[in-house]
Amino acid sequence: MTATPQHAPPQAAGGWVVIAGLGPGDEALVTPEVAAAIADATDVVGYLPYVRRVADRPGLRRHESDNRVEIERARHALSLAAEGGRVVVVSSGDPGVFAMASAVFEAVEHGLPGWRTLDIRVLPGVTAMLAAAARVGAPLGHDFCAINLSDNLKPWSLVERRLRLAVEADFAMALYNPRSKARPDGFGQALALLRTLCKPARLLVFARAVSTPEEAIQIVPLAQAEPEMADMRTVVLVGAATTRLIPRDPRPFVYTPRSVSA
Ligand code: SAH
Repeated sequence: MTATPQHAPPQAAGGWVVIAGLGPGDEALVTPEVAAAIADATDVVGYLPYVRRVADRPGLRRHESDNRVEIERARHALSLAAEGGRVVVVSSGDPGVFAMASAVFEAVEHGLPGWRTLDIRVLPGVTAMLAAAARVGAPLGHDFCAINLSDNLKPWSLVERRLRLAVEADFAMALYNPRSKARPDGFGQALALLRTLCKPARLLVFARAVSTPEEAIQIVPLAQAEPEMADMRTVVLVGAATTRLIPRDPRPFVYTPRSVSA
């Protein structure tokens, strides 16, 4: 199959910014569209571990930055493109899911007027929750939501409110950024809250480093879930009340039926 690059800039000489998702880790999950944009780029910009996933080649300038400097990184990418650079801003998974796409648009909204006329495109990627769900079956097969458990950019009270309302609405949930060294306690508090709202048999999937050599999957009822089962490389899927287990070896299937009776 030949990939048709959708990202070709209107004028060959013009700079552009592509905000691309690299998927959860496996090279096979990088879309042909993203691979084509990277092949055509002069600059790759992003958080250090993500830039390292892009193979080196002559003529490709690499701009690696630390975590938590998303706006500076976005402004840098836009400046490079304004100077004629063909710039790929890389995120893991999908760039629109708790990642760089919003940061770039925030920089555009508050930045130089000329940035608004730049050729800026977002190329989707396979987000962690979809890769994790596919590993175990179809836990997100009915209505679901995604919640970022990091309280770096929002108050923890809002995280708890959204968890409570998601349980009330009986969404399955994908919990991103569950736990980090800087935030060791929030996930334990989230589990404690879920225990007050859901039955002990509610199914949880801890999916770590999906599609990488370090992949590890644990499926447990809420009663057996421990905070230490999650880290920064884990996405936690919380089943809806209807989510079911099909026992088999070596690992059960987990799925949420498509229908709910009135
Ligand atoms: N844009 C990314 C999410 C970035 S936030 C995406 O769409 O997937 C970072 C969080 O994503 C991590 O804390 C973890 O919860 C999740 N994550 C990213 N890659 C993952 C992977 N390979 N396996 C499991 N979770 C992953």
